[in-house]
Amino acid sequence: MLEVKDLVAEIDGKTILNGITLTVRPGEVHAIMGPNGSGKSTLANVLSGREGYEVLSGSVTFQGQDLLELAPEERARAGLFLAFQYPVEIPGVSNMQFLKASVDAIRKHREQEELDAPTFMKLAREKCKELKLKTEFLKRGVNEGFSGGEKKRNEILQMALLEPKLALLDETDSGLDIDALQVAAEGVNALRNGERSFIVVTHYQRLLNYIVPDFVHVLSEGKIVKSGGRELALELEDKGYSWIQ
Ligand code: ADP
Ligand code: MG
Ligand code: MG
Repeated sequence: MLEVKDLVAEIDGKTILNGITLTVRPGEVHAIMGPNGSGKSTLANVLSGREGYEVLSGSVTFQGQDLLELAPEERARAGLFLAFQYPVEIPGVSNMQFLKASVDAIRKHREQEELDAPTFMKLAREKCKELKLKTEFLKRGVNEGFSGGEKKRNEILQMALLEPKLALLDETDSGLDIDALQVAAEGVNALRNGERSFIVVTHYQRLLNYIVPDFVHVLSEGKIVKSGGRELALELEDKGYSWIQ
């Protein structure tokens, strides 16, 4: 699914990623953990093609394609989904319009028929129900005035509708109550299958009680310094990060 090799990347002339190597196979869930400032968000941003980052060396292959050659929207069309740590607000555009436009673009790319408005509404309402979101939520401006928990649920709603091949979730380090966390985790778990992969970036192991990863990697100063199974996350909870660094 994803093959990252010796990835070195900088922002504003400062090298942040110092040679990341990571292989994600179909159906796997990988957690990226690490102390604040270790480069977790930078990795997620570089993979999504966010502006401002420069890849100095290394490669990223996504389903056999050179990911780094693709524009961010092409990455999305190819099946990559990125949930930002700080979701952007788009006042004046309703959530429903936004979601439909996203789904239309992806379906077109996949050469699937466009969903007519009533069919899409029905689908969006069903997904809202599953995620315990009020349907009035669909009428509001994208993320406008949403609470942290609502933004998170909205992100998961978007993911559920887009059905990505690989989802990258960069978790906020704080501000999410346990209910929102659980809903987000349930959303992820409902989408888990033998083909879809996830990379979950998180500072705390708490989230991994709900989204149980197949692999855990610890990032420190832009490098993966340790990898293991889910027990590694528990060990980190226990001992902190300093023993690894
Ligand atoms: P994490 O998500 O693990 O907390 P980040 O990827 O956000 O870490 O940040 C990694 C490092 O990159 C930090 O030292 C941070 O200060 C630095 N950094 C992030 N953005 C910029 C920027 N625009 N210019 C310079 N340094 C940056
Ligand atoms: Mg951080
Ligand atoms: Mg971060």
